[in-house]
Amino acid sequence: MTTTDTTTPAAGTLGAELREAALAALRRIGADVPSVELVDPADGTSTRSTIPVVSPLAGEPLLTLPEAGAADVDAAITSAAEAFRTWRSVPGPVRGGVVRRLGELLTEHKADLAELVTIEAGKITSEALGEVQEMIDVCDYAVGLSRSLGGRTMPSERPGHRLMEQWHPLGVVGVVSAFNFPVAVWSWNTAVALVCGDTVVWKPSEKTPLSALASNALLRQALAEAGFPEAVSQVVLGAREAGEALVADRRVALLSATGSERMGQQVAPVVAGRGGRYLLELGGNNAAVVAPSADLDLAVRGIVFAAAGTAGQRCTSLRRLIVHSSVVDDLVGRLQAVYAGLPIGDPRADGTLVGPLTDGGARERMLAALDEARADGGTVVVGGEAVEVDGAPGAAYVSPALVRMPAQTDVVRRETFAPILYVLTYDTLEEAIALHNDVPQGLSSAIFTLDVREAETFLSEVGSDCGIVNVNIGTSGAEIGGAFGGEKSTGGGRESGSDSWKQYMRRATNTVNYSTELPLAQGVNFG
Ligand code: NAD
Repeated sequence: MTTTDTTTPAAGTLGAELREAALAALRRIGADVPSVELVDPADGTSTRSTIPVVSPLAGEPLLTLPEAGAADVDAAITSAAEAFRTWRSVPGPVRGGVVRRLGELLTEHKADLAELVTIEAGKITSEALGEVQEMIDVCDYAVGLSRSLGGRTMPSERPGHRLMEQWHPLGVVGVVSAFNFPVAVWSWNTAVALVCGDTVVWKPSEKTPLSALASNALLRQALAEAGFPEAVSQVVLGAREAGEALVADRRVALLSATGSERMGQQVAPVVAGRGGRYLLELGGNNAAVVAPSADLDLAVRGIVFAAAGTAGQRCTSLRRLIVHSSVVDDLVGRLQAVYAGLPIGDPRADGTLVGPLTDGGARERMLAALDEARADGGTVVVGGEAVEVDGAPGAAYVSPALVRMPAQTDVVRRETFAPILYVLTYDTLEEAIALHNDVPQGLSSAIFTLDVREAETFLSEVGSDCGIVNVNIGTSGAEIGGAFGGEKSTGGGRESGSDSWKQYMRRATNTVNYSTELPLAQGVNFG
């Protein structure tokens, strides 16, 4: 018996509406939804493992999809490795043409893909559209790269010799991604990897498989239109086990993994142990310093978007506010007023600013963190409660929390993936920077100040120890032109712009002798 699906939410429910909307978006994009073989035709008994597609808007399964087993991951890597043999020799600008077409298809289907992102990740429509725009932007960037990837020529110490470097395609790139950026993270990796001449196997979050199928379908369409094998781009659906199979495979030359610090700690030793390369984009615990000279109107806007936007579920979400004692009461009062009026609800509705958390577990972890903060002497100024939304009893909505803390205790030093903003106070800039850097993570940071000395100190080598350091804007909302990533337990990886492309290529240093002599370097004489 073969069926396309085992899960059908009751007619007339939110689950049924979301299922129909998701299937319609997939149809418009031209993505196939793989069927689930419940009973193995070979022996008539064994069941195939599956993953449910659960929307955080409804908190119930909409569909069931087949889960990739070890053999499926192996087959995907084999196909990608085979495709690499032809793709690596396609001229860079021609590879760029495929990425340009992907950008066009993403533009055409921007609303469809954003709808899937909202249904699977719970983002408000504007942020989901922004995520797809980020994909389009990185395609533009990669098209430019496809004509400008270049190596250096260095002066040789030997006469009649040329010393230079070339960059060659690396091989199969494995991408493991998190639920909260279900499509943009794939595109940062894939657009750049493709112009570099690599092929890609993607293991998306088990929470966002439909967005992944849709993105992959658009890229495969771009490949097929240009006459290239679709096998250049592979998706394997599944949870941790599918990711582990990809991580362990020696044929995966670069493993780019985005997710929690815990996941990165599991992945890094496995890839290093097999001599592979890894690129880790892990959790953050991002802070903003608010100095006495700050423009508080501007600071409030930047802080609320960074802390409450995406329901606090961005790696760059603002989690700690380090405020000068002379302005803390004023700032907390203003934030309290804004937090109290934040529109929470269905992320598809006009005006909603805060959608649901990904699941009930995330809500429990948020409420437990708030209990721990209270036990540490913290005071919840506003928010921090479960919120019921009409028609969605299974969804995990919360009100973003603002919490004043007497000190930076353990709970503040951890990343809780939910909208909690801890407020700490300081008196000297040195104290603020010490507090700022005294966490395990090092992703994104900001200072709000109109004092050029403070701003430059925060940006300097004695300032923030993060990969992203901003002045007078919040911690979230990076552009694709810069290298994105963080230090310390955030993993040290850099993706997207600047020279991040170098991680997707291998460098060969070449010495060419065009003379009739054979001088040795360092003046060595060998008879
Ligand atoms: P997660 O760590 O639970 O899962 C991330 C991905 O890793 C999933 O695809 C999961 O199936 C896979 N995975 C888990 N364990 C694995 C293992 N041992 N081997 C191989 N694959 C494994 O994270 P999540 O809940 O989906 O996402 C939230 C986390 O991701 C937060 O910590 C957030 O800060 C982080 N994140 C970081 C960035 C960044 O760029 N730094 C971006 C987005 C999210």
